[in-house]
Amino acid sequence: MVSLYHLRPTPPHHTQIVAEMASYGNGIEKLVEFQQPRPQDHFERRELNGIFAQPQPGLNRVGVHVPVGRLSAQEARDLAMVADKYVPGGEVRLTVEENAILPNVKDEDLAALRAEPTLNPPYRLSVNPGKIAGNVVSCTGAQFCGLAMVETKNNAEEIAKILEDRVEVPRAVRIHWTGCPNSCGQVQAGDIGLMGGPAKKMNAEGKMKAVPGVKVFVGGTIGEHGKLQLNPTDMNGGDDCDGVPIDNLVPVLTQIIVDKYDGTVKPEFVEEQTAWKVALDEADAAKAAVVAAKEAAKLAKAKAAEEAKAAAAAEAAAA
Ligand code: SF4
Repeated sequence: MVSLYHLRPTPPHHTQIVAEMASYGNGIEKLVEFQQPRPQDHFERRELNGIFAQPQPGLNRVGVHVPVGRLSAQEARDLAMVADKYVPGGEVRLTVEENAILPNVKDEDLAALRAEPTLNPPYRLSVNPGKIAGNVVSCTGAQFCGLAMVETKNNAEEIAKILEDRVEVPRAVRIHWTGCPNSCGQVQAGDIGLMGGPAKKMNAEGKMKAVPGVKVFVGGTIGEHGKLQLNPTDMNGGDDCDGVPIDNLVPVLTQIIVDKYDGTVKPEFVEEQTAWKVALDEADAAKAAVVAAKEAAKLAKAKAAEEAKAAAAAEAAAA
């Protein structure tokens, strides 16, 4: 029996499956290595959004980005109209990242396709969505999922657009959103993962109030040597709470992209981001000072109790 639940089976899963098939006695196991040989080459994840030449001369695949995988009926019709115009047979392929590919577009049609209103602002679909907005993943979230603690898709799309405007980044940054710990949006695999959870924010009266927030996971990777990031990162300055309010996310994510993914804040936002960073550092320093003061008070109390005990013992001995 092959265990489907053991993460690191011994012997390895592949060996177990082959042994299981061999036990059927029909010889099929001999085809496994032939039909499904283990990959030996380095695996490079293909970029799917954008325009890429196909092996067939003069033809191209055009990856159309569907923000957070949400396609309205009207957008689906518009995309079908574009496909009818430029793709033989009106073919549209869907990717596992919930985007679309228009295959077999002729070289001479590319400029006209690029200029189609459906694929340009103010419409949501695009061929060049950007390195941040083009790589957002989001679970269903509070709009349609009863388990969600926060709204995800609308926030994910809106915040990604804001980040595209604020930061230049030389590589794709994959931001994954998930509305609850079930992690349908796979936050642990994202460059930056955002998991819905409680957060607090000071209101106008100076009181900390519960608001929609996220835990932030930084540094998950995918591919051959992919590694899940299982622990959230403390990104919340002086607030004594795990979650970052969604309202505060833009500068938090901007800073992560700068610090971890070689991003550069665009000149018009540098002053604002610097002021936020200074305030965050001050809040962190204040938080550390409070923790240190509490620790010092605890040690002083323990020392005083020890000294009182020793004095009482000495007094008893003298009597
Ligand atoms: S992660 Fe949670 S909120 Fe998101 S779709 Fe899954 S169950 Fe719903």
